[in-house]
Amino acid sequence: SELQAASGAQTEAGVVIGSHRPRFKGGALKIRDLSMAYGELEVLKGVDLDIAPGTVTCIIGPSGSGKSTLLRCLNRLVEPKRGEILLDGESILAMKPESLRRRVGMVFQHFNLFPDHTALENVMLSLTKIKKMPKREARQIAKTRLGEVGLAGRSDHRPAGLSGGQQQRVAIARALAMNPEVVLFDEVTSALDPELVKGVLDLMANLGSQGMTMAVVTHEMGFARKVADQVVFMDEGRIIEAGKPQEIFDNPRSERLQRFLAEVL
Ligand code: ADP
Ligand code: MG
Repeated sequence: SELQAASGAQTEAGVVIGSHRPRFKGGALKIRDLSMAYGELEVLKGVDLDIAPGTVTCIIGPSGSGKSTLLRCLNRLVEPKRGEILLDGESILAMKPESLRRRVGMVFQHFNLFPDHTALENVMLSLTKIKKMPKREARQIAKTRLGEVGLAGRSDHRPAGLSGGQQQRVAIARALAMNPEVVLFDEVTSALDPELVKGVLDLMANLGSQGMTMAVVTHEMGFARKVADQVVFMDEGRIIEAGKPQEIFDNPRSERLQRFLAEVL
C-alpha cells in the first residue's frame, strides 16, 4: 500500500483519499483572558476563544491586529503576559516543550523548510529529533504523509527544486507527521504565486473535512466562508466578533468589521 500511495490514487488537489488518512483526534482549545505585550506594546488585550475539536476556525482582521501573535501564543513561540490556554483540558502554558511540539503543529507563510534537506528529510526530522523515532520508521511515516499531500514523487527534491505550493505542502506534511491535536496556519498562501494558492487551500479544506482541528489566519475570505466552522474577527488585540461564516460575512454587527469587509471583499 506504500507503493499504491506513491503511484497514484491522487485527486486534483494531490490528496490521497484512502487508507492512509491521518488519525485526527482531540484538539479542544480554550483560551481565556489571553494578553501579550512586546515590551510596552500591548498586542493581545484579553482574548477569549473556544475552538471545538474537529473544527476549522479562521481568524481574520487588519494587519497588526495580533493574529500571528495569538497563534504564536498557542504554541508558545512567545509567552503571554496573562491568561490561560487549555488543550484538551491541559494547560499549554505549563506543558513541556517536547510535548507541545508534538501536540500543536504550525505552518508558516514562508514554509521554514531546511534548504539543505530533501522533502522526505524535512518531514522526517521532527520525528527523529522530537519523537526520537528510529530513522526507518520515520521514513515510512514521512513517505505516507508526503503521499497524502500529493508529493510522493518529489520526496528526494530539495526545497529549491520545488514550487512554492509544493514547498508549502511539504511543510503541511511535516506538521501532520507528528499527529498533532491541532494545527495552526499563519497566512500560508500569502507568499505563493496566485496559480499555486488553490492547491494548498484545497488540501487544507480536505484536512478540515477529515476532522483536523485547525486555527487558520488568512486573507482568503472565500476559503473562510466555505471551510470555516467559526470565523473570528480581530482588531487592535481584541476579538471584535466571532460566529459562523454567514453571520460574519453577511451580517456583520460592528462598524469595524463592516469597514474591514468593505475593504477586503
Ligand atoms: P497580525 O498578524 O495581525 O498582522 P501581529 O501579531 O504580527 O499582527 O502583530 C501585532 C502587533 O505586534 C503589531 O503592531 C506588530 O508590529 C507588533 N509585533 C509583532 N511582532 C513583534 C515583535 N517580535 N516585536 C515587537 N513588536 C512586534
Ligand atoms: Mg500576521
